[in-house]
Amino acid sequence: RPKKHLGQHFLKDQNIARKIAESLTLHGDYKTVLEVGPGTGVLTQFLIDKKEFQLYVSEIDKESVAYLQKHFASLEGRIIGGDFLKMDLEAIAPGPLAVIGNFPYNISSQIFFKVLDNRQKVPEVVGMIQKEVAVRIAEKEGSRDYGILSVLLQAYYDIDLLFTVPPGVFHPPPKVNSAVIRLKRNKRERLPCDEDLFRKVVKTAFQKRRKTLRNALKELTLPTEFEVNPILQKRAEQLSVEDFFELTLSLEKAWKQSS
Ligand code: SAM
Repeated sequence: RPKKHLGQHFLKDQNIARKIAESLTLHGDYKTVLEVGPGTGVLTQFLIDKKEFQLYVSEIDKESVAYLQKHFASLEGRIIGGDFLKMDLEAIAPGPLAVIGNFPYNISSQIFFKVLDNRQKVPEVVGMIQKEVAVRIAEKEGSRDYGILSVLLQAYYDIDLLFTVPPGVFHPPPKVNSAVIRLKRNKRERLPCDEDLFRKVVKTAFQKRRKTLRNALKELTLPTEFEVNPILQKRAEQLSVEDFFELTLSLEKAWKQSS
């Protein structure tokens, strides 16, 4: 019986499960893959016997864990019970690790924030999520759907929206369309600006996305010399990822000069 509070919508369509599994490109040459939320293993079955990598799974639901232990005996020792959001990815295996899954939709944004926190460890992600969230992640500046997750993820990952999946192929069917998205870590080891400040600027700017940056960024107490910068007349959603790097860099410089 699917548990709603755990976002359990089980895939019924084997072909779609296979297609998701085959969407890993092995970008970054990892030897470990972690599946989030395997449930009854419809996706797991296409990942388990790959010679390119070793599969681990993370499942919060005890009943599903017991089911997997029984039906996927060869996964012994690699079924990790508990909350993916609280897991230490480094403890699973050393070296890079890819993340894949038909994600629980109630925590899909949090899963991507966790990926961001582990960006040096995670070279590739393939995930099925609500189409709306997938679009938000992939969107570029100028769109209403462009936001914090788009800018932060695009700073570190190249994003592909792969395909859309209708509600009817799940049990029970979710209320929304789904989509499979792929993230591949870009070549940037570090951002051209301070990474913590970048994150803070992006978050603050989008919290008041309808305001000009002059108003939206007020709480960061901008240096007086910076007040004349023409970029402050724009709104967050008009700035590209590169523009956000620039903005962060100029802020860093202005603060240095004023101190
Ligand atoms: N992979 C299966 C499939 O495609 O049929 C199940 C997908 S279902 C959308 C999401 C799965 O994630 C469920 O099995 C649920 O129990 C599990 N889950 C929910 N929250 C979780 C969490 N915080 N950590 C790990 N697994 C979680």
